[in-house]
Amino acid sequence: MANLINGWEVVIGLEVHAQIATQSKLFSTSPTKFGADPNENVSFYDVAMPGMLPVLNEHAVDQAIKTGFAINGTVNKMSQFDRKNYFYPDLPSGYQISQLFHPIVSNGYIDILDEKGKNKRINIERIHIEQDAGKSIHDLDKEHSYIDLNRAGIPLMEIVSKPDIRSSYEAMQYLKKLRMILRYVGSCNCNMEQGNLRADANVSIHRPDTPFGNRAEIKNINSIKFLGDAIDYEVQRQIYELESGRTVSQETRLFDAHTGQTRTMRSKEDAADYRYFPDPDLKPLILTSERISKIKSELPELPDTKKSRFIEKYHLTPTDASILVEDRNTADDYEKAVQASKFPDKSSKLIANWLIGEVFAILNKENKEIANLAFPIEYIAELVDLIADQTISGKIAKTVFAKMNETGKHPREIVNEENLAQIVDRNIIAEATQRVLDNNFEQFNQYKSGKKQLFGFFVGQTMKELHGKGNPDIIHSVLTELLNK
Ligand code: ADP
Ligand code: MG
Repeated sequence: MANLINGWEVVIGLEVHAQIATQSKLFSTSPTKFGADPNENVSFYDVAMPGMLPVLNEHAVDQAIKTGFAINGTVNKMSQFDRKNYFYPDLPSGYQISQLFHPIVSNGYIDILDEKGKNKRINIERIHIEQDAGKSIHDLDKEHSYIDLNRAGIPLMEIVSKPDIRSSYEAMQYLKKLRMILRYVGSCNCNMEQGNLRADANVSIHRPDTPFGNRAEIKNINSIKFLGDAIDYEVQRQIYELESGRTVSQETRLFDAHTGQTRTMRSKEDAADYRYFPDPDLKPLILTSERISKIKSELPELPDTKKSRFIEKYHLTPTDASILVEDRNTADDYEKAVQASKFPDKSSKLIANWLIGEVFAILNKENKEIANLAFPIEYIAELVDLIADQTISGKIAKTVFAKMNETGKHPREIVNEENLAQIVDRNIIAEATQRVLDNNFEQFNQYKSGKKQLFGFFVGQTMKELHGKGNPDIIHSVLTELLNK
């Protein structure tokens, strides 16, 4: 049995709230734009003015359908909106519209790699569509609280996993993979700092082969690192409770990023009774087969499929393929570059190395996206081709690359302007080699008396003499000839 801590098995299920990428809210035409002034994105419907009725945002529905397919789920032809009733100042209507009894998506899964790099399937119970709530602000004033309803009514997908996750590591992998998939299909921007993607972690521990333990639900975690930290803390807390002869109570907890600890928010006993019932203002959501199959047919190639294809078609290692498919634009650019190469079969691995090594390094250093590179991605293919057809050496290619990034110029133009083409003229190389031997006769004598490892020294010196531009194969051949005369 894997992953036991003091003989305890950890059991985790995640409920992820993903903001659906839309222009307007779920049931009103208010914009969803981030960074607006407080209460700027608010309509009569959003403040629950009497008589205002919801009008469903069909684009949000399409986005949820797309997501359902992307996580291998069943998209239900009939789903239904329910009212979840509770009182809170940031919820003017006194209820949140959600889908309890009939969610839009059931029974999906995504595959992750566990600590040992082994494939592991995490089942997903459901995705339902719901409204976000507004925000109460308590720290602006000593005596008053403020309400910002900009988020009230923003469309969310709640993606609920089965309790299949067995460690904080797996939980983080799951959230990363889910984020990657949502970005691929474009149904959520997944900007965690902007609250686009938040996770509730349900955590329990038990002895293997016994029923699951009581779970604590840690609410509203907004970073992947915090998710791992919160779970690690919670597991240790629960182990301590149980091993001290106490029990773990089912409750809702909060994670405090400053202390790295979780604390009680409310216990099961004061859990609200939400009095769910179907929203009488909204008809059941019936999806036609045409609508569902159209969306399915428009789905982009997803990361796992793309990764397998890259390994097969471009002979990449699984690690390199994973890195390249992490972001859809990067994967597209990689393929664009390979297609631009004159020798795609030979270049596919080299282009991958250049992207993952040199290109990622400058993107990191200059803090930009691949779309904002100073040069078109095809230039990487041409640079690799210049090495392949021996116009330049791999070493000089780095110089050309740096210039390319500085100026945006075509690699061949840089080679010509800076006179960087490789020297392949055997006579010129032979002259340089002879000069090296003349200037280093002591080493020459040592070589002759058996110190064969000096060969590399002569190669280096000749290369230096030729300002790094000598063709290494010809240098080798000339040196072999001269040294063995
Ligand atoms: P509720 O009805 O209280 O919301 P659910 O059955 O819908 O409970 O489960 C909510 C989340 O808790 C799901 O992600 C599920 O996988 C997870 N979960 C359920 N039981 C456990 C458990 N014993 N330990 C950890 N997670 C659990
Ligand atoms: Mg639930």
